[in-house]
Amino acid sequence: MERRITRKIVIGNVAVGGGSPIVVQSMLKTDPYNIKETIDQAKELKRAGCELIRIALPQEDTCKIIPILRKEVDVPIIGDIHFNHKIALKAMDMGIDAIRINPGTINNLRKVREVVNLAKETSTPIRIGINIGSLEKKILKRYIKPNADAMVESAIYYTKYFEDLGWQEIKVSLKASDILQTVEAYRKFSEKSDYPLHVGITEAGPVFSGVIKSAIGIGILLYDGIGDTLRVSLTGNPVLEVLAAYHILRGLNLRKRGINIISCPTCGRCTTKLVDIVNAFEKEMDYFTDSINVAIMGCEVNGPGEAKEADIGIAFGAGKAVLFSKGRVVKTGIPKELALDVLKEEIHNLTS
Ligand code: SF4
Repeated sequence: MERRITRKIVIGNVAVGGGSPIVVQSMLKTDPYNIKETIDQAKELKRAGCELIRIALPQEDTCKIIPILRKEVDVPIIGDIHFNHKIALKAMDMGIDAIRINPGTINNLRKVREVVNLAKETSTPIRIGINIGSLEKKILKRYIKPNADAMVESAIYYTKYFEDLGWQEIKVSLKASDILQTVEAYRKFSEKSDYPLHVGITEAGPVFSGVIKSAIGIGILLYDGIGDTLRVSLTGNPVLEVLAAYHILRGLNLRKRGINIISCPTCGRCTTKLVDIVNAFEKEMDYFTDSINVAIMGCEVNGPGEAKEADIGIAFGAGKAVLFSKGRVVKTGIPKELALDVLKEEIHNLTS
């Protein structure tokens, strides 16, 4: 796996592209007029490891939350703006760290130019967010229906337009809810351009299916070396988006954060409520930041082997469990009801 070399831009204090670690972002889902809830959610996202937080700014007066958020939460804030370019101007006046615009929904070159000119003046990076559902009419005229080539044409057109105006602190996204169309668009664009790319499958759906779609689409792109920042878009709690993003990155050895749980699917040999134990463990360790492998196994068939290979492992048997740490047995005869506590204590010992 070789990462494609892109230009580097900096959003707040976070580098994107140019070989920097792939940045995890998510988006606030609260009402931007509800300052308390929005700040609380932003803090939750930070705690989960979110490195760039995007906020929808549907009206100009929602921009008043920008300085408050920047003061309360130490994560760069990206304003997400559609239709009304004046909101982008206002957001930059209010000190936003970066903006995301979709030129297709602004749909007016003079207005886009105004945004770019102020971005230059205020040194605000811009994401050009191309979406298959909102391509400009002039581009669509050349295609029978919206497709990857139309998205690429639109992205190339606007990156060139921004460059001609003298602004290159840009990153690009080309999103469709269809995985293969998205992959095609990113692949084609990255053959033609070295701007950093924000990757994701848009409108991926509810948590279960959305994570699967995202893992396939984002996984293919990352494996191709494409992607400098990513978001897993889910109809659900945004903290799950961040956790899912790290699972994808960890699965490809691109970032390390949190616990990699190795657990067996259970079968008729399992005499423990392993599903409950693993679910409880995963939930409790959601915010754990150290990168370790933990095996939780249902019986003596594969249990001791997997538990030995992990940093810490617990293997259940008839009635009792055995705890391993770094390949060695550290405790035997653990009653099942104490197993979770013993496991957490050992993790604490190993990582503190
Ligand atoms: S480790 Fe044991 S309980 Fe788990 S799936 Fe394998 S055989 Fe079944």
